[in-house]
Amino acid sequence: MKEVRVRFAPSPTGALHIGGVRTALYNYLLARQQNGKMILRIEDTDQNRFVPGAEDYIIQSLAWAGIKMDEGVMEGGPYAPYRQSERKGIYRQYAQQLLDSGHAYYAFDTEEELESLRERQKAAGSDQQQYSAATRLQMSNSLTLGAVEVKKRLDAGMPYVIRFKIPENQEVHLVDLIRGDVIVSTTQLDDKVLMKSDGMPTYHLANVVDDFLMKISHVIRGEEWLPSAPLHVLLYRAFGWEMNMPQFAHLPLLLKPDGNGKLSKRDADRMGFPIFPLTWKDPKTGEVSKGFRESGYLPEALINFLVLLGWNPGTEQEVFSMEELIDSFSLERISKSGAKFDIHKAQWFNEQYLRAKTDQELAAYLLDGLQQGGISCSTDKAVQISSIMKERIRFPQELWEHGQYFFIAPSAYDEQVISKKWNADAVRVLTAFRDAVQKAESFDASVAKNLLEQVTTSLQIGAGKIMQALRVSVTGVGGGPDLMMIMEIIGKEEVVSRITYALEHIHANVRQS
Ligand code: GLU
Repeated sequence: MKEVRVRFAPSPTGALHIGGVRTALYNYLLARQQNGKMILRIEDTDQNRFVPGAEDYIIQSLAWAGIKMDEGVMEGGPYAPYRQSERKGIYRQYAQQLLDSGHAYYAFDTEEELESLRERQKAAGSDQQQYSAATRLQMSNSLTLGAVEVKKRLDAGMPYVIRFKIPENQEVHLVDLIRGDVIVSTTQLDDKVLMKSDGMPTYHLANVVDDFLMKISHVIRGEEWLPSAPLHVLLYRAFGWEMNMPQFAHLPLLLKPDGNGKLSKRDADRMGFPIFPLTWKDPKTGEVSKGFRESGYLPEALINFLVLLGWNPGTEQEVFSMEELIDSFSLERISKSGAKFDIHKAQWFNEQYLRAKTDQELAAYLLDGLQQGGISCSTDKAVQISSIMKERIRFPQELWEHGQYFFIAPSAYDEQVISKKWNADAVRVLTAFRDAVQKAESFDASVAKNLLEQVTTSLQIGAGKIMQALRVSVTGVGGGPDLMMIMEIIGKEEVVSRITYALEHIHANVRQS
């Protein structure tokens, strides 16, 4: 059987969209499962759309996501170079082959001539404004000008493009592994440019030539490329490569969470979630878009979320490691219809993966965040905090954001809790509890619990009534993990000092009001 060789072939025209990560992932899973090869090819022949930094960004994003390459711009490989701008000579040679065999022709038309073609077609009521079998003989090209004139123009260095001569009245038939049979009449197709006047190939030529030369077995890419597939089939035919044509699989779109239509950056911005794997600063506008990584998504959670947008395992299983995905993945289970991008599901996966981490692993995130905020913390304390916060967070940074009180005494208190729960009983219990803690020889969660029990029993005030007041005096907020554990972590001195401060300040507030 033919070796499975797949490629991810992005154009470095900006940040990698999250849909691109999914495309790369599906390619990767098939390659790994079939003991094949995964290739990263950079399609950078459109000089107008080239964006500096984009290639690096793509490489880093894939590495972060855990999608590893066997061959590519970084790894090299038997079919190097893998950057199309370094393969110009190759495309020129293959364009020549098509010129020689009569499948392509030189076209010298100026912008004005092309515009006037479109105008004429519009005036004639044609719904297709294109350079095609119906119009090519009215234009300035090597089919109409005669060999002498063509040579003269070429020798004089006049600008030209090379166009593909779409065969007339044929049916192009291709089998898409996801969509099934696709049949298109060549009357629907135009004579696409293969080589541009700057000497660069267009996407179509470079893509087909490279897929052939790199022995690609499966072309797995976004649905937006489906309309190009018939042209690609015709190119394979024209080159005489039909026997070696890859199989095609066009992936369903990622849809916006609300309504219909393709998920766009605008939707993501509007709804406040990332659309790029890593933070990206647009070099032209300076606009910074926060990435999934910087928003606190774990790569394994993002992968798990993405794989299920368009593919299903046929079972109830939802959480998959990369290894499990490699085992279970199949192109047959990719659906034709678009998948809604539900960011809540991504958050749910993130929670699952965070909970599966050890306290030590989470502590590393916490220590990292604290360090950036210039706060020191022992590893033991970070591990303890992680252990009690684990079930309550969706993102690693919430360890720090929701647990600031572990490090900083509150300077403000939750108003609602104060107005409902701060009363004379609370003040009596807190005062007595603070004094008891101060006298205690040792202090931990169970000591705190016992002392509180003793105090509430002797004052005959239900612990439930004053718990919120105690919490707010220690943490400033009304919710959080087990308060006794919080007090153990904060430590005796700090607990005493915080309750004392709260008794002075909150009491003053009560009196004033
Ligand atoms: N360079 C194309 C892109 O940016 C690749 C499409 C394909 O995989 O054929 O998506």
